[in-house]
Parts: sequence; C-alpha cells; structure tokens
Amino acid sequence: MNLSEMRDVLARRDIQLTKSLGQNFLHDRNQLQKIVEAAELTKVDKILEIGPGLGPLTELLLEKAVEVLAIEMDGRLVEFLREHFKVGQASRLPGERDSASIGKIFSPTLTARAGETPALLLLHADALKFLRGGKRDWSDWKLVSNLPYSVASPILVELAQNPQRPKRIVATLQLEVAQRLMAKADDDDYGVLTLLVQLRYEPKKIFKIPADCFFPVPDVDSACVILERREKQLLPGEKHPAFEKIVKCAFSQRRKMMLKLLKAVWPVEKLERGFAELGLSPQARAETVSLEQFVRLTQILAA
Ligand code: SAM
Repeated sequence: MNLSEMRDVLARRDIQLTKSLGQNFLHDRNQLQKIVEAAELTKVDKILEIGPGLGPLTELLLEKAVEVLAIEMDGRLVEFLREHFKVGQASRLPGERDSASIGKIFSPTLTARAGETPALLLLHADALKFLRGGKRDWSDWKLVSNLPYSVASPILVELAQNPQRPKRIVATLQLEVAQRLMAKADDDDYGVLTLLVQLRYEPKKIFKIPADCFFPVPDVDSACVILERREKQLLPGEKHPAFEKIVKCAFSQRRKMMLKLLKAVWPVEKLERGFAELGLSPQARAETVSLEQFVRLTQILAA
C-alpha cells in the first residue's frame, strides 16, 4: 500500500489518526522490504505483528510466512483489515495448537482467514494486555512489527521475559529506544532496558528509517533493530529475577556508586567479594559495568 492509497483509505473511511496510539504508518516500499528481509523468513515461520495499522507490512509478511497473528487495538483499523484481507469470523482456525489456545481465550475478538495458507489471524486487542494476560509459547515465532512507540519498551520486555520467547525480533521503534537496545557499557544509552533485553537477546543490527517514510511524518527519529534469541542462556531462568533486581537497583540512581546502592539490599561482605572477583572498583557506577559483569555478579550474589 503506497502513500496515496493510504490517504485514500483514511479519507474514504473518515479515519482521523490518533497520536496517542502512535499511528504513523510506514509507506515506503524499500523500508518495508528491508524489514521483511531482516526477519529472514521461511515458509515455516509464524509471525507476531503488533500494530498492523493499515497492513502494509502484514501484506509482505503473508507472502513469506506460514502464519501471521496481527494484534491491533484500533477497531476502525481492524474493520478495514478484515475487509482488505477478507478475514472472516474464526470458527475453525488454521495452525491448530497455538491458534486454538489463543482462540479459546479471545474468541470474541479473533478473526481468521480460515482455510487459507498462509493464515492471517487478526486480534482486536491491546497487545500489551494480551501479552500480560498469560505467558504463551512464542518459541517458534518471530516478532516483526512497526511497534506503537509509546508501549514499545514494555512490549519488548514482556516478550523477552517470557521463558518461551520469540526466536527473532525485528522491531521498528523510536531511534532513542533502538539505541538503548543496542548499547554497550559506557554508552550514553546503556541502562535497564539494554540489560533486561540483552540478557536474552543478542543485538544484531540497527538501521535508521527516515521520518518521511511514515505518514503522518513523526516528530521523532525511527530505526529498526534486529535481535536474535540467545540459544545458550547467560544465566539459568531461575536466576533472572535476581539479575533484574540487581540491575534495577544499580541503575536506580545513575550517578551514584553502584556498591552504595546495592548495599541497601545485599550483605556488604558478599558485595565486596563480588566486586573484587570482578575487578570492579568500589567507586564504579552501573553504566560502566558490562552485561557479562552483571551476569557474574548475579551468580555470586544469588548463589
Ligand atoms: N504497522 C503499521 C505500519 O507500519 O504502517 C502501523 C504501525 S503504527 C506505528 C502502530 C500501530 O499500533 C497503529 O496501528 C496503532 O493503532 C496500533 N496500536 C497502538 N497501541 C496498540 C496496542 N497497545 N496494541 C495493539 N496495537 C496498538
């Protein structure tokens, strides 16, 4: 769907876009293709798309994947998508296991292109509430989305924290958030979001998307990030809560010495031993401590 087709659909349906829902639609064919290529899709891939909007990305994903589950919060867009992709009421859903379980919980708002391959499942829901509503098995899914910017970080954290997290994330978001996801220790953007996501995903690539590729043109810069699930876990799952507690405490006051902050929660002797073992100065601030050092510190403190 190009820019004039988008304008036309919006005008015909009298849809005024809602800023709070982050409704900036990507119309540039080259950028859409780049996003799809980054997903490295094969005919067995199942795709979770959050915020399909008018479906320009959905359309390309359907050419390459076996199943797309698109979750859209705006009922006006869901209505358009249903008509555009000829999606009917879902009675018997394709893709059996996952679709059936999703359908059971969300049947009133779930629709599907029944019998068609690839299958499109359309869910009219708030994606963040849907993800928080229960942990599902996304382990053989990929997230490919131009995310609603205001909820992009909590959505990514929610998915990353799921023990059965998606194998690849290709997400378009605000440049500033994208840089946090890619950051390393000592970078300005390095922080809690970086560490919570990088514990489970390896950042692979980032590319900027010019603002004039969107309609309406957003007042922030955008970028697409590619994250790949770590198949070899840096920490066993049962230690993840301790890692998060340490990271959040260490960054609670960015300019303060990390040792001082952690002392409020963990025994001094254990902390001092941990810092010595890691070769960390007692004056170190959290922003200088690498992911690997946080992992090691967790192993020591949560032993
Ligand atoms: N993917 C489309 C594109 O690239 O043109 C639209 C992307 S637009 C940045 C974000 C979309 O997410 C909008 O369609 C908006 O209505 C939808 N949205 C906003 N908040 C949402 C939420 N919590 N759950 C699901 N969809 C949401």
